[in-house]
Amino acid sequence: MAMIGIPLMKPGPAPEELGVDDALNAAGAGSAGWSSRPPRDRRLPVRRLRKAIVRRQTEIARTVAVETGKPVTEVLQLEVTAACEMLAFLERRYPRWLRGRGFRYLRPGFWLKSNRVLFEPLGTVAVIGPSNYPFSLPVMQSAAALLAGNAVILKPSERCPSTARLIGSLFAEAGFPAGAFGLCPGGPETGERLARAPLVRKVLFTGSSRAGRKVAELCGRHFKPCLLELGGRQPALVLEDADPELAARGLAWSAGHAGSRSCVGTKTIFVHAAIKEEFLGRLAREIRALRPGEPADESADVTAAPAVPDPIVREALLSALRRGAWVRTPDGRTRDLAAVAWDRPVLIDGVDPSMGIMDIDEWPERLVMVREVTSAGQAVREANRSGLGLGASVWSRDTRRARDIARRLEAGIVWVNDSSAGLPDFPWGGTKGSGWGRLFSREALTELVNVKVISSERRRTAGRKFWWFPYSRDKYETVGRMNEFLYGRKSPRRLVRFLAAWTNFLVRSGRKK
Ligand code: NAD
Repeated sequence: MAMIGIPLMKPGPAPEELGVDDALNAAGAGSAGWSSRPPRDRRLPVRRLRKAIVRRQTEIARTVAVETGKPVTEVLQLEVTAACEMLAFLERRYPRWLRGRGFRYLRPGFWLKSNRVLFEPLGTVAVIGPSNYPFSLPVMQSAAALLAGNAVILKPSERCPSTARLIGSLFAEAGFPAGAFGLCPGGPETGERLARAPLVRKVLFTGSSRAGRKVAELCGRHFKPCLLELGGRQPALVLEDADPELAARGLAWSAGHAGSRSCVGTKTIFVHAAIKEEFLGRLAREIRALRPGEPADESADVTAAPAVPDPIVREALLSALRRGAWVRTPDGRTRDLAAVAWDRPVLIDGVDPSMGIMDIDEWPERLVMVREVTSAGQAVREANRSGLGLGASVWSRDTRRARDIARRLEAGIVWVNDSSAGLPDFPWGGTKGSGWGRLFSREALTELVNVKVISSERRRTAGRKFWWFPYSRDKYETVGRMNEFLYGRKSPRRLVRFLAAWTNFLVRSGRKK
């Protein structure tokens, strides 16, 4: 087996793993110092973190591959490169975006005001990480929250303890000050304790919809916001004018990457009847050509990591097979599950919306449902029936039409003629049961900060604002006339009536002084 030819660097400093109480105490004591640093200074340890990741990329890729069972070349791209690209993006953009903005408002009574929108740290943020992307997501989310000035307590997935230790060691090597970043290993009960802790101002949760609901309940009870990055059941719409070869190559990857456990991996393909046979034949051949291997083998496309046998999904699958669905193979079809290669995506053809398997929100197995449709409208309607809405893809040579269809899909991210790979500037997140909130992009910055406005005015006199006390019949009349002129249909007559009321108000209130 060939191994990556980058030399192993000496291991980094051992991370300090904290219990919940210690992590909270450290964050309580250290967060103020960190948050008071200017955003440009906060970049420095993030930059050192990125450089440490690059230096130790071989160690990271191997550790994550072995622990998750994902192929090492994929881990290097989707966890290491993705994390570095995101950190470089955040380092560049966040200090600028965090400056906030100033504005004036040119209306009587307001024009002297100088207004400023500020983005202030929330305080301490808990990041709860998933097992399918145990490195990149916790690193990227923690870095974003830290750059925004928050202290971070990371609770990584308990299923990837070596990756968690590696993350801790990288943050230690980057030299974040005490209390800014704490690693707090543990299982669901640790996550729940963090969600309940009064010091934790927000929870950034990535994981299954089931656990996400629990976290949302807890946060609701303790009246704190949470950001939920939950599961998806990504539909792919292969239209009649799609390039069948492109769609087959792209969807084989989308369905098969991350051991078919990616939150944006394709799970249902809606394919037009006119292209179905050609497309599916190619897709089945693409899948058969995938090269199996050990996670540390750089040439392995898929690994033999066993899919989790979920009894509910299995029962729904057997029921679908009894009702006419079949497993699509390059040579035809079968209903014998023992004859199926489970180390790669498995195409279940002939499904329809009446089958229970189409209503299961998310499954860990490598199953991909194939639904034949006769129009794009039918595909959109059926895709939107899902309770989840994270990602989707549309495949067509007519990109303008594909974009129109993309607008009608209920999802957070829709790819056209590609699938599943994000960019740092994507506001990442889903709709419906796939979660709340967005991460990373400019639109998502407000998830990580308290947005504050300071509206100030230098006054030389003690003159009253128009809307202050006292109220009067004249004031009432003036406001009514102003509303008619400013916000209703504009007309010279309304302007005259407004000015008359205004003058009358000024004269009579002047007499009363
Ligand atoms: P999981 O829900 O089993 O665990 C995720 C994390 O939540 C773990 O750290 C776990 O300890 C913690 N946890 C579990 N129950 C909890 C509770 N009651 N309170 C607090 N914390 C709790 O998920 P997983 O199998 O580790 O990860 C895979 C899931 O994550 C899939 O559903 C996948 O779709 C989803 N995911 C979503 C995105 C996204 O961007 N939307 C990205 C990656 C993964």
